[in-house]
Amino acid sequence: MREAVTFDDVLLEPQFSDITSREDIDVSSQLDSEHALELPIISSPMDTVTEWQMAQGMTDLGGLGIIHRYNTVEDQAKLVEMAVGGEDRLIGAAIGVSDDFINRACALYDAGARLICIDVAHGHHALVRHALAVLRNTFGSAIHIMAGNVATLKGFNDLADWGADSIRVGIGGGSICSTRIQTGHGIPTLQSVIDCAESDRSAKLIADGGMKTPGDIAKALAAGADFVILGSLLAGTDESPGRVIEQEGRKIKRYRGMASPEAQYQWRGRATSLEGVSHHVDYRGTLFEVIYSLCRGLKSGMSYSGARSLVEFRSKALFIKQTVCGLAESGTHIKTRL
Ligand code: IMP
Repeated sequence: MREAVTFDDVLLEPQFSDITSREDIDVSSQLDSEHALELPIISSPMDTVTEWQMAQGMTDLGGLGIIHRYNTVEDQAKLVEMAVGGEDRLIGAAIGVSDDFINRACALYDAGARLICIDVAHGHHALVRHALAVLRNTFGSAIHIMAGNVATLKGFNDLADWGADSIRVGIGGGSICSTRIQTGHGIPTLQSVIDCAESDRSAKLIADGGMKTPGDIAKALAAGADFVILGSLLAGTDESPGRVIEQEGRKIKRYRGMASPEAQYQWRGRATSLEGVSHHVDYRGTLFEVIYSLCRGLKSGMSYSGARSLVEFRSKALFIKQTVCGLAESGTHIKTRL
């Protein structure tokens, strides 16, 4: 049986650097032949993360937002319209694979979405193959199609061959995810990224789930991801849906898995699969502040590897495994009293 590593199991080795300013570091990433994003960060299609304010904010900061699909077609299309706001913004929108998926995709396209994300828990699936074929048939190359999630190289290559332009990689690693507990299935996210980065297909690799620090984002990108999708790291901002709650002197915002009982009952009236939990995150202020601090960490990380671009970062990155004691040393660990 092989071993699989995730973010906390590894570190990047510091290397010679002649970078004197973070200004000299470019974190842009190519999404497809038409779109390059200034930031390799995408906000997750979850109802406590991405509606129009988040999608608009992410695009304006150089990243991308994908508007969630847990609403009526009309409501989701309205959110897309508001995010695009008559301007030339690239806005993503999620769809499922059953019932009215093509009607939803057409309504989202008409509202201005040019990136459609097939958003299902187990993406290496015949229904995703079908949805990809129908979408491609309907839209040709007028839209970017993102699909997922997968956890293996075989899954990545199949989705690429079925027509996906970019693929979400990571099963069971999300902070609010209970898939591995409920089903026994999954692969640590970083290992999936390492495996899928072996692909010779041109589809872009998007690391999804389990990144809790700027350092984790750096590790995902160094391991071969072209972009990262974030949930919990963005859920506490002003731009995420929901209000700020005061609880025992702390400011928080609700954050929940889309397969949590709470979300499932609210959107479907019943629970189809229960593989997530409802929780909260600390309130973090504006999206700008959060993205700024994530990018500051990422750029410093690239500087430690002596890399001025993400392509150089990937080619130079040297990973080592750390021990449990190494992990303890890696966190702040000052002793105030002996
Ligand atoms: P986070 O950034 O670690 O909070 O993970 C966010 C990711 O978790 C999302 O982008 C989805 O891929 C995944 N996710 C969202 N809701 C659920 C759920 O209910 N169960 C399992 N995974 C989920």
